[in-house]
Amino acid sequence: MTIRNRIALQFSLIVATILIVFSVLIYLVSATYRREEFYDRLKNKARTTVRFLIEVKEVDRELLKIIDRNTLTALFDEKVLIFDAKNRLIYSSVDDQIIYYRTALLDEVRRKKEIETFSEHNELVGLLYRQNGRDLVVLASAYDQFGKSKLENLRLTLGWGLLAGLSITIGLGIFFAGQSLRPINQINQQVSTITARNLQQRLDEGNRQDEIARLAMNFNDVLHRLHQAFEQQRSFVSHASHELRTPLAALKSEIQLGLRRPLTVTEHTEVLTNLLSDTDRLIGLTNSLLLLARTLETSNQVAFQTIRADDVVFLAKDELVSAKPQYRVSVDYSNLPETETETLIKANEELLKQVFLNLFDNACKYSLDHTAQVRISTDSQYCRITIQDKGIGISTQDQVHIFEPFYRSTNALDYQGFGIGLSICMKLIELHMGTLSVESKLGEGSTFTVSLPHV
Ligand code: ADP
Repeated sequence: MTIRNRIALQFSLIVATILIVFSVLIYLVSATYRREEFYDRLKNKARTTVRFLIEVKEVDRELLKIIDRNTLTALFDEKVLIFDAKNRLIYSSVDDQIIYYRTALLDEVRRKKEIETFSEHNELVGLLYRQNGRDLVVLASAYDQFGKSKLENLRLTLGWGLLAGLSITIGLGIFFAGQSLRPINQINQQVSTITARNLQQRLDEGNRQDEIARLAMNFNDVLHRLHQAFEQQRSFVSHASHELRTPLAALKSEIQLGLRRPLTVTEHTEVLTNLLSDTDRLIGLTNSLLLLARTLETSNQVAFQTIRADDVVFLAKDELVSAKPQYRVSVDYSNLPETETETLIKANEELLKQVFLNLFDNACKYSLDHTAQVRISTDSQYCRITIQDKGIGISTQDQVHIFEPFYRSTNALDYQGFGIGLSICMKLIELHMGTLSVESKLGEGSTFTVSLPHV
């Protein structure tokens, strides 16, 4: 069943229940009023008849019968019977009919003084009338043709009204449910046209206020992120193949050079040394690419532990200095807090070490003195590690791009590198819920700051 039909059905069921309950109530209340009103009229009739008979001397039974039959208020099939204490019928408003009555009924009237009951289809009241020590029982019965036909009319009116009301409700339910779900149908149609090739397409955001507009806006957000991820992937592949092609071409020309003529042992050694350095470069590049790809892929499967940020800094420093002894990393402890909890962070040690290794390596690589100044400080929320150098610096225009994969600023082209390290660092720091920022002046040096939330 479609949502439109389900809403229409629920809406109709609710309205139908309300309508039925109201109609039944109205009918029952009207029926009760009619009965009470009719019993009152019967009682009045009974009292008037017995008073005329007993108290008005000028009125005898025959005259009373004539009056009874000709009163304007005479009710349909009306009978008034009066019985004395010995259950003898002393007056009957109808002569030509056989009158049945039960003595038990008369006794009940004597006991209760007043009763309201039915006799076949007719309503019947019984009254005990006491006059000068005489107990008379008056029974008045009649068929309320007028009231019952009014009630029948009411029943018909309510029945047809209910039917009409329900039809209108179902019609309106389907119409309004369709109206309110129309934007979803439109979104459905628009979504069905989106493929991997046209991810830049956006859904109509309507009034940007209601729930459906918000759904469209959120979906557009998802599309935007998907588009970005696709673009990143595409540029990664094209950059990676481009980067791999250059050293592979260099390798090929070295080999061709070696094959062109017989070489002396010194020339052989030279060619092989060049081949080795090119292969090293290829291995370095492949490793970086692999790390970048893994960082993008496995970001949600990384195990985190509570570790000390300063410990990781030292691990990275030791590893870098033992691999490149010409580099110097000096760590400044002066801002370290008394309480060690402020340097405790939730992190993956191996990945965080990669970040520091890269930042220390860059600081040493891009500065003449090959020195990185590292400072560790904390505040109420974050543990900060700043890496400063007095190197070539980064221009303001380049600062916005250096965290993109494969971006290298022009002043860095004379130095070895692939432009991948910082983008990996950024991804890994984001994975740790931290931030990585840079401040730099061309020709004066750079300061990279890693901020990580401490426990
Ligand atoms: P790589 O150093 O291999 O080129 P990175 O991703 O680590 O790649 O850095 C990207 C670019 O950012 C570098 O090419 C360089 O232009 C710039 N850069 C990074 N660190 C520094 C630094 N300490 N001093 C000057 N420039 C830097």
